[in-house]
Amino acid sequence: MSDKYDFDLFVVGAGSGGVRASRLAAASGARVAICEDSRVGGTCVIRGCIPKKLLVYGAHYRNDFEDAVAYGWNAHLPEFDWGKLIRNKDQEIDRLNGIYIGLLKNAGVEIIEGRGRLIDEHTVQVGDRAWSAKHILIATGARPYKLDVPGAEHAITSNEALDLPELPRRIVVVGGGYIAVEFAGIFANLGSEVAMIIRREELLYGFDDDLRVGLAQAMRAKGIDIHICRNVTRVEHDRAGCNVHTDIGQEYGADLVMFATGRLPNTADLGLEGVGVDTDHLGAVKVDEYSRTTVPNIYAVGDCTNRLNLTPVALHEGQCFVETVYRGNPTKPDYGNVPSAVFSDPPIGTVGLTETAARRLCAKVDIYKSRFRPLKHTLTGRDEFSFMKLVVDGETDRVLGCHMLGTDAPEIVQGLAVALKCGATKAQFDATIGIHPTAAEEFVTMRTKEPEKEHEPAE
Ligand code: NDP
Repeated sequence: MSDKYDFDLFVVGAGSGGVRASRLAAASGARVAICEDSRVGGTCVIRGCIPKKLLVYGAHYRNDFEDAVAYGWNAHLPEFDWGKLIRNKDQEIDRLNGIYIGLLKNAGVEIIEGRGRLIDEHTVQVGDRAWSAKHILIATGARPYKLDVPGAEHAITSNEALDLPELPRRIVVVGGGYIAVEFAGIFANLGSEVAMIIRREELLYGFDDDLRVGLAQAMRAKGIDIHICRNVTRVEHDRAGCNVHTDIGQEYGADLVMFATGRLPNTADLGLEGVGVDTDHLGAVKVDEYSRTTVPNIYAVGDCTNRLNLTPVALHEGQCFVETVYRGNPTKPDYGNVPSAVFSDPPIGTVGLTETAARRLCAKVDIYKSRFRPLKHTLTGRDEFSFMKLVVDGETDRVLGCHMLGTDAPEIVQGLAVALKCGATKAQFDATIGIHPTAAEEFVTMRTKEPEKEHEPAE
């Protein structure tokens, strides 16, 4: 490694992608520094996946207490203490933050506190010091995007939703993506009155249409009001709370308004333009198949590149970067059959092609579906169903997509993603013995093809 520079690698941003890349690069013998202007751990650990999932667990207890009665527990819904949940969640985030710092230190990575700014292609300024490095990795993530409407400053985003001083009595969630449906579910289960405003006809654009329709039905059944096909035009705020106005003249009152209208790459003020690193119209760093930017010694991974914005993908991109640059093994990130989950209530697990995408790509598509009341709810009487769907290439028999809405969907679909990665066929699914009695066994016992019909994608 070169002594010409202070470091072999300087990483800007200590989130999932940056931390993984720095640790692995250090393990490969590189002298590595990483800078961070917030807390080590990034969006996933500090203000995303982990704290959100803890709130999802917390909120789900309402269902569990209610369901317990049918199983002989004379339970009354206990009082809920939002402050305690938030304090306990914060404690766990502090613990994880400490673990991440420890991992970096143990790997010999130097942690530099502060915001990094590129001043030339080999130099990063943090505060009043500048460090030189042979390679620079940009891993600065993304931040919530608020609609550009009057009064937007009165709306919170997922950042603030995780730390509210108290639970809102009424909340309006604007947007219908991952974050919107997850937080709508959390607040509704904790007892808030929740309204959602979305601009399309259905939630979760890009997911399989059956899941989109099924989730909206399930959320409405829980009392979440989903208002479709309207755009927010302004937010007003007074002592009584907020009023959200839409383009069709409606007004929604609430204590709190949350914008969950997407995220934008964190690339402003990084000095990228000055050193020749190109970004696109959203500010995402442009990279080639190896995560290399338009400057040959500068790479970028994770949400700041706006490829597939998921933590495990950022980790994978960080790992591929290290293989490419430090291990003599040029490796492109593989985006095929990446599974993902939405921790809505009920949750979603999905991998592979949606029916709509498969029909665009394949001459013949076979569809298998199953909708059933989970065994648990035969006693509770809860009006909740699980839905599973297989999308199969009718010519090769290969399973192209597995989609599930229902309890444990994320846990179930992770395993199926291995099968899809291996190119499993429907015949191989059928030859697999189920585990009884589970919901998951349904994925290997679906035998009846859906009748062929004209497929109309949802909006
Ligand atoms: P998404 O892109 O999933 O959703 C954004 C939502 O905002 C969509 O419903 C979109 O509508 C709507 N929207 C965007 N612009 C406007 C507008 N101008 N007016 C009205 N509505 C608008 O973003 P999220 O913020 O929910 O999540 C960001 C990313 O974080 C996701 O891409 C995901 O990869 C990641 N994530 C993953 C999670 C997981 O794995 N469980 C959990 C949370 C986040 P439309 O559909 O019409 O575009």
